[in-house]
Amino acid sequence: LQGRSTLAAITPSPHLKDVRYDIRGHLARRARELEQAGTDILKLNIGNPAHYGFATPEPLRLAVAGHLQDSEGYGHEQGMTEARAAIAEVHRARGSHGVDAEHVFIGNGVSELIDISLRALLRPGDEVLLPSPDYPLWTASTHLNGGKPRYYSCPAERGHLPDPDEIEALIGPATRAIVLINPNNPTGAVYPRALLQQIVEVAARHRLLLLSDEIYDDIRFDDTPMQPLAELCGELPCISFGGLSKVHRACGYRVGWMVLSGAHARTAAYRDALQLLSALRVCPNILAQWAIIPALQGAPTIQALTGPGGRLEATRQAIIEEVRRSDYLQMVSPLGALYAFPSISSQRLPGFDDMAFAVSLLEHEHVLLTPGSSFNLAGSRHLRLTLLPPAGLVATVFERIERALQRCEAE
Ligand code: PLP
Repeated sequence: LQGRSTLAAITPSPHLKDVRYDIRGHLARRARELEQAGTDILKLNIGNPAHYGFATPEPLRLAVAGHLQDSEGYGHEQGMTEARAAIAEVHRARGSHGVDAEHVFIGNGVSELIDISLRALLRPGDEVLLPSPDYPLWTASTHLNGGKPRYYSCPAERGHLPDPDEIEALIGPATRAIVLINPNNPTGAVYPRALLQQIVEVAARHRLLLLSDEIYDDIRFDDTPMQPLAELCGELPCISFGGLSKVHRACGYRVGWMVLSGAHARTAAYRDALQLLSALRVCPNILAQWAIIPALQGAPTIQALTGPGGRLEATRQAIIEEVRRSDYLQMVSPLGALYAFPSISSQRLPGFDDMAFAVSLLEHEHVLLTPGSSFNLAGSRHLRLTLLPPAGLVATVFERIERALQRCEAE
């Protein structure tokens, strides 16, 4: 070894050049440092129900605890057959076309399946149409798998809804798929049926795969029913994503699923690729999969907390009130998912930089939020905060935000 350069740096792969995941980035790391130094941080940056005392329902816990000894070996690469059959049944009942257990893929969270679905699809330079703002794993995974994100906008002025004409105008020869996140993280928008129908027609005209991230499907704050995209797709290929993390309050179990619907003749080779990639990671965690059947068979979900008097609804109302009272803030009220996405008025603070503000809010006021620019939203003036803390904490959080905004204005 003597004489050779032992000091050459180990450099990361160029595939990571455009990959970011700010939700767990430098802000979160700085918050951890402050906590280790003894500072209390109000953390509203991650949709982690357990952090705010939302317990995983008892039937799910018992199912996992009772199957320790049955979970010692590897299992089917796509996940437990009985659990996949139960997921398929739910999706058939929702109107998905041609779904049975072989079209269901269980993963260690939806996160793993987002990556598998894109890895199985993309050739170098292929384009994926993503919402802006997006859940940033979609962008990261597109880059990691050699693809290129193209963004369709979901601005506040349109209630954070996409425009099907804009989506269609972005389609070119390299486009392979359209991603929808509904109910939406980070905006809280829930897409109406007629709008989804138009997007399905665009996908059908251009023979594109639809990828519908519905991990928040049962978390809605009004009586509008959630419209599963696959029901509108018929034979058009669609993958619907769901899981235990949010609706079933079990993020730590790391269980998600994706369901491939549509005409088998069009999806057979792609389905085989999904199976191959599933096999490369051997199988999803066996123990946690025991929670799937009780979850689908009526264990209480988080939805009970979104109605009048429910804890999530109380926090949502408190945030809406605080935003209304503020001279700096405005917001489209969230209709679903676990987040509020207020923005800062350009009249009050024309040069507002959301990341710089989030850093200052953390350092001076000890509140951790995620700035809108972390969700691939260029020029964002937004902040994302989760609806999970108790309503009683909201006044304190907004007092601190207002103080930081005043400081920002005075600078
Ligand atoms: N999709 C969306 C829209 C999310 O918000 C999240 C997590 O916050 C995920 C996917 C990943 O969820 P998990 O890997 O816990 O199933």
